[in-house]
Formats: sequence, C-alpha cells, structure tokens
Amino acid sequence: MHTLDLTGKTALVTGGTRGIGRAVVDALAGAGAKVAFTYRSSDAEADALVAALAERGTEALAFKGDAGDFAHAQTVVDEVVKAWGSLDIVVNNAGITKDNLMIRMSEDDWDAVIGTNLKSVFNFSKAAYRTMMKQRSGRIVNIASVVGVMGNAGQTNYAAAKAGIIGFSKSLAKELGSRGVTVNVVAPGYVETDMTATLSDAAREAMLGAVPLARPASAQDVAGAVLFLASDLAGYVTGHVLHVDGGLAM
Ligand code: NAD
Repeated sequence: MHTLDLTGKTALVTGGTRGIGRAVVDALAGAGAKVAFTYRSSDAEADALVAALAERGTEALAFKGDAGDFAHAQTVVDEVVKAWGSLDIVVNNAGITKDNLMIRMSEDDWDAVIGTNLKSVFNFSKAAYRTMMKQRSGRIVNIASVVGVMGNAGQTNYAAAKAGIIGFSKSLAKELGSRGVTVNVVAPGYVETDMTATLSDAAREAMLGAVPLARPASAQDVAGAVLFLASDLAGYVTGHVLHVDGGLAM
C-alpha cells in the first residue's frame, strides 16, 4: 500500500531554517526521512535545527551558501550523496522578494530575485538529476507562488521567477518521467512567514478578502502538500502545479 512514510529516504531542502522551508524539513523528518538543508546566513539557527532534529532521532546535514550559486549546489548534492549514498527528494524552497513597481525596479532587484528564486531551481535540479536518473527514482518539488500564475503589481521580478519555475518544472517532468523521477510545483498563496511580515495591514486585508478560505496559510499547510508530492502517494503525479492558496486562484 502507498503511504506517506519516508523511512530510508534522503531529502534536501533549500532555505530550510525558516518559514516554509523549516516546516518542510520538519514534515519530511516527521515522515522518517534523513534531511539535509541549506541556509544563507545564520549558523546559530542551522545548528539549532540540526540539534532539534537529532533530538527527534533524525539524521540531518546543514550547508551554508547561496542557492543561486551553481558550484554551491553541486557541492551540497555531492556531499549528501557521499554521506548517505542517495538523494531521493529535492525541495527547491529558497526565495526572496525585492518588490517595486517597474518604474522603480532596479536591474539589481531583477537579477537578485531571478538568481535566488529561479536559477537556484535550475542549480539544484541540475546537480541532483544524474543521481536520481541512476537511481531510477526521485522527487523534485519546487515552491512557486500564486503570483506566478495570477501576476501581481509590484512583483514583476518575483512573478517572472515563479512563472519560470512552473515552465521549468513541466519541461523537466517531461525529460525525466521515463526515468522514474517526478517534478512538481507547489504554488502557495498568502503564507504567514517572515517574507510576508512586512506587508501593510491594508495589503493583508485586501489579499485575504479574495481568499475563499478567508485565512492565510500556515507554513505547515504548504509543507503538507510538499510531503504528499514527495511520497509514494504521489507516484503517478508529475508536471503538476498544486495550489495551496485557500482557493485564491481557481
Ligand atoms: P522566508 O523569508 O521566511 O524564508 C526564505 C528562506 O530562504 C530562508 O530560510 C532564507 O534563508 C532562504 N534563502 C533566501 N535567499 C537564499 C539564498 N540565496 N540561498 C539560500 N537560501 C536562501 O520566506 P518563506 O515565506 O518561507 O518562503 C519560502 C518560499 O516560499 C520562497 O520560495 C517563497 O517565494 C515562497 N512563497 C512564499 C509565500 C508567502 O506568502 N510567504 C507565498 C508563495 C510562495
């Protein structure tokens, strides 16, 4: 019988110490996987997470670096495979926003968001796909956004990156399907994390007003969808965009 159990599986999550990434790490660990994660800056947060996972009996590895840097991605994947002998699940979660209307958006804001949010997905998928092809199994789950589907004024860079993730994932799903590797997308709506903590009350109210479920998502709501796509339960699902947005885009 297919289950959510990930005992014996190995997973890698980019941007795993906070927000949605942290919830994904917890969910995968809770299902029995060994979990490696990357982080950008706080060694203390990463050490605390490794210790918390060890306390629960989960083997964990932490890697500091910029997800937008291909050499970093290749090193991380190589280290995980060296340590654990396989890489079954990659969750491309690392992301940033640098919002501005086009009139004020700088080239740097564009490059930073495309580099961190879109190139990172190429980096870790490219670094992992050979291992997954050889295994003839693997799960790649990429975190996009409802904004990549609907667009949002002030987020041309972010929406382009997130829409790019969707096209990338569908294409890679077609390339890797015959090798038993699935590639799927989770597209969250408004999730309460550090990323959205700076939104004004008015922006928050306006967004929630359009959400049929009339509440923001928790990071755990998103992690549940990732866990499903990473598990045996989703073995015949690939190239799919799973909206976790309370019904915002339908
Ligand atoms: P967050 O700011 O709480 O966490 C982002 C994580 O990414 C952090 O762990 C951060 O260290 C990491 N990160 C950022 N830049 C990085 C880099 N260059 N290299 C490695 N790690 C890096 O944000 P979040 O809300 O948890 O967002 C996680 C993902 O979900 C992002 O891809 C985001 O675009 C997406 N998302 C969030 C929302 C939302 O409402 N919060 C909605 C849709 C999609």
